Amino acid sequence: MRAAPGCAAPSPSRGTGWGGGETPTTLADWLSAATTGLQAALDLTRREARLEAQLLTGHGLGVDRPWLIAHDDHRLRPRQQEDLLLLLARRLGGEPMAYILGRRAFYDLELAVTPAVLIPRPETELLVEAALERLQPEAPCRLLDLGTGSGAIALALARHRTEALITAVDRSAEALAVARANARRLGLGHVRFVLSDWYAALAGEVFDLIVANPPYVAEDDPHLQRGDVRFEPAQALRAGPDGLAAIRVIVAGAPAHLRPGGWLLLEHGHDQAAASQTLLAAAGFEAVFTLSDLAGLPRVSGGRLPGHAAA
Ligand code: GLN
Repeated sequence: MRAAPGCAAPSPSRGTGWGGGETPTTLADWLSAATTGLQAALDLTRREARLEAQLLTGHGLGVDRPWLIAHDDHRLRPRQQEDLLLLLARRLGGEPMAYILGRRAFYDLELAVTPAVLIPRPETELLVEAALERLQPEAPCRLLDLGTGSGAIALALARHRTEALITAVDRSAEALAVARANARRLGLGHVRFVLSDWYAALAGEVFDLIVANPPYVAEDDPHLQRGDVRFEPAQALRAGPDGLAAIRVIVAGAPAHLRPGGWLLLEHGHDQAAASQTLLAAAGFEAVFTLSDLAGLPRVSGGRLPGHAAA
């Protein structure tokens, strides 16, 4: 097997026919060695490492997992081996699977992602659910997603509330390009994308519901030095010394952009529920609540402006 310079090849096991220079490797041999390499380098379980090896290999070969499983005696051509080694080296270097594969599943959508956007996370699905609960299925309403990134939240809402007029903003033009492309590919044309630093480009606009998964990690949080987040855009993660800088701006600005009775729903850090609730109450929100994610951590808080219920 020819390894590209600087590539960390997984250590081949004896008797697999690996390391023979020109000897073609079977898919089974490759998957087993790649699994071992990933497991050791990334501290994964064997099962997680095997899944990653299959996803990387399927991506590199342009085939799906069922094909891989059914063809494990397939002999890899040297060019295929080189391509797969390059993909594996990226992952062994810590690059997130979502950026290597260029996609991530979120809610019931498959989203394209690039390093210009935060990788959508399962806990953010809670925010989508909390918003959907407050929006009647057929009622026209105006929704705002602040800091849309890949468009995950706006597009999940768009799919389930086809009558809604949805505005999604981001201050990153690169992120908006990713979100727009996702909207087009998913056929969700009723989302308007606007380049805006929070509310800056939305003067005079009023919504029934505002959602945001803003940056909320404190600048010196050691979590920023580990795993996928090292590769994600800092402006989507970091929010001042206490991680609340963006949440403060969003909460303070929300009343001017909500109808009476309109909701603001926010994702936040596991230790920011109390602070978020205090900010919401101070800005005049009522019915302030917090929801916990699947890990049992307080993750989404929100409140309603006084007045007639909107949506
Ligand atoms: N939940 C993410 C993390 O801690 C942060 C996402 C965000 O800041 N919005 O990795």
